[in-house]
Amino acid sequence: MKITDIKTFLMQVGPRPGLSAADGSFRGSRNWLFLKIETDEGTYGIGECSGWPRVVERAVQDLTTALIGEDPRDIDRLWHRLYIATMGHGMTGTVGGGALSGIEMALWDIKGKVLGQPVWNLLGGRFRDTIPVYGHAKSPERARELVSRGYSAVKVGFTGGVDIDLVASIRDAVGGDVDLMVDAHGPSWMTAADAIAVGREMEQLDLLFYEDPVAPENLDALQRVRDAVDIPLAAGERVSTIWGIRPYIERDLVDVIQPDTGRAGGITQMRKMAAMAESHFITMAPHSGSLGPVAEFAALHVMATIPNVLMLERVEIDWEGRYDVVTPVLKSENGALPLPTAPGLGVELVEDEIEKYPSSRNVSEMPKNEGAYEPGTFGECVYFQPRLRRSSRLRLKRTTEY
Ligand SMILES: [Mg+2]
Repeated sequence: MKITDIKTFLMQVGPRPGLSAADGSFRGSRNWLFLKIETDEGTYGIGECSGWPRVVERAVQDLTTALIGEDPRDIDRLWHRLYIATMGHGMTGTVGGGALSGIEMALWDIKGKVLGQPVWNLLGGRFRDTIPVYGHAKSPERARELVSRGYSAVKVGFTGGVDIDLVASIRDAVGGDVDLMVDAHGPSWMTAADAIAVGREMEQLDLLFYEDPVAPENLDALQRVRDAVDIPLAAGERVSTIWGIRPYIERDLVDVIQPDTGRAGGITQMRKMAAMAESHFITMAPHSGSLGPVAEFAALHVMATIPNVLMLERVEIDWEGRYDVVTPVLKSENGALPLPTAPGLGVELVEDEIEKYPSSRNVSEMPKNEGAYEPGTFGECVYFQPRLRRSSRLRLKRTTEY
């Protein structure tokens, strides 16, 4: 069996034709990139890449020349061949990680189809038949709605400082039996001291984890938060490969790693990350915030086969077209997704639907939330925030009545 071609499918994620960008999610800026690896025997595999989809598409096209004529079943060897091929480009971080993820995912899809087995059965078999997921809420009402639909875990995310009162009100709304998480989203809206102050205030809210409390590039700041706050920490959604996640695990900086299935480097990289984490009694809760529906299937196959699963992030209703571009559609039940059982990944692209949404834009506008920035600095568009006044931005209004 030989690889004959790789086709890419780059699409704009919302809005639908006739609607303004404001009506779509992600301020009209998000792309999904799917690919299809074809072989001389007719079997094909599909995958999904994130990282910077429009740029990753070109990376996939560049790497295709290294794959034509190769046996798609030699998955690990081909991964290494491709990884070293990126060396001349500086190894390329999540762009390379995105390309490798989608390609490697598709190679597993081919192998599963050839052997008539779901991918999870080629990875050591399953621990479980369903994978727990969590949803996103920015209000007590939304959190209650998720719980009413069977979710048993809810995450609240912030741009700018963490609103502790909102976190507390969501905890009150869902009760003590629902897992609650807080994502501070990493950019240095908070200094280490801010993140520590916020974390200490939230210690009584029984959080499952406190995610990216400081900029993830700043591991020493993460260490400071780690040492000072008694809440499990989570990070790792922006890194690729085992070498990217290594310091988080080796330094025991987190309790939960969050590799992104579309840019971590592939299914095997995810499993190796899980094994590294397992040796430190760290769990894995893959990031899915920017992913489309193919990578979600890949995440399920990985998560079926590792012991240290926490749960999978679930973007369920970001854009109504999400469920038109693949088949079948995954539906959560009782806060979990069923494990696919068809050979390969168990998902197919609906190419006619994908073609309706050509990529038009792939860079986000900066957040419109002026509250995320120190007054007077909104127009500077800086990533590094030198100072946020705690009283107005971090909303440290709670005392210790919890
Ligand atoms: Mg996050």
